[in-house]
Amino acid sequence: MRCPFLREAQVKFCRGAVSSKMIMRSSASDEHERCTSDSWPDCPAARQHHQEHAPAKRCPFLHESLVQYCAGAPVSKFVPYSDDQSARCSDDRHAYCDVLLSLEGGRAPRTNGDPATWVPDGRHFAPNHLWLDVAPDGHWHIGVDAFVGHVTGRIDAISFINGAAGQHPTVVLTVGDTDLQLVFPVALQAAATNNRLRSQCERVVDEPYTGGWLFEGANRPGSIDLMGLRSGEPLKRWMRDELHRLNSAVQQHAAQTTGLWNDGGTAVPGVIRHLDRPAALSLYAEFFSPFVAWRSLP
Ligand code: SF4
Repeated sequence: MRCPFLREAQVKFCRGAVSSKMIMRSSASDEHERCTSDSWPDCPAARQHHQEHAPAKRCPFLHESLVQYCAGAPVSKFVPYSDDQSARCSDDRHAYCDVLLSLEGGRAPRTNGDPATWVPDGRHFAPNHLWLDVAPDGHWHIGVDAFVGHVTGRIDAISFINGAAGQHPTVVLTVGDTDLQLVFPVALQAAATNNRLRSQCERVVDEPYTGGWLFEGANRPGSIDLMGLRSGEPLKRWMRDELHRLNSAVQQHAAQTTGLWNDGGTAVPGVIRHLDRPAALSLYAEFFSPFVAWRSLP
């Protein structure tokens, strides 16, 4: 499905000028225009070029073309109809376009304080907290869920490992001194990574289900094996159980290091930053390691 903000227009431009500007065609602007009148030979741009057998009523350097442009962007840029740049606007990938997300408020940080409810519809969740969104036309996106953001609080650096066909999309999230390698359990060949995140790491935590996406690709519709991924109603319960497990793991660590048991309480956002390296790695192994994906589902 194409983006509702993608528009088409007929534009005209001058091939004789040193720098030409595309102008959207309209019958009103065509009137009184020198380029389409018999006074075109007076134009300085046309005079620079000698043109034999030129038509009398229309400048031979005036050209017209069909272009596309984004009606949602603050400044419209025309791109030729066949240009690849607008290809993602013409299919289901447009759902993750930054312009569209900003128009729909998708880039705004979530204010809901309960990570257990940060589960959007239509995603398939891996046991190690990566999600997959498959569009009807077969385009897909992968990202990390809000639980990862809750545990890390902030991502300091990001590296993508996009292997050959048959391999698993993998991302390394750096949190303080610790590298957390997250591997998507289904083998998929990504066509693109969200390279904007290299300079905007905060979006992984602030926009986990929209602008913080990690990998993008396309498969034949219905061909991805979704067995082993959670979706639908059980997700909220699973996320609540994961938070409960997280609290227990952190309390157990505190008890081991201080000899005292916490009297309840919940893990603060960014809890992994407050742990020493062995405890941080043990939290990683418990919730995010590739081996978590091999655990049996309920
Ligand atoms: S740039 Fe984004 S908002 Fe604009 S037409 Fe393309 S997908 Fe839609």
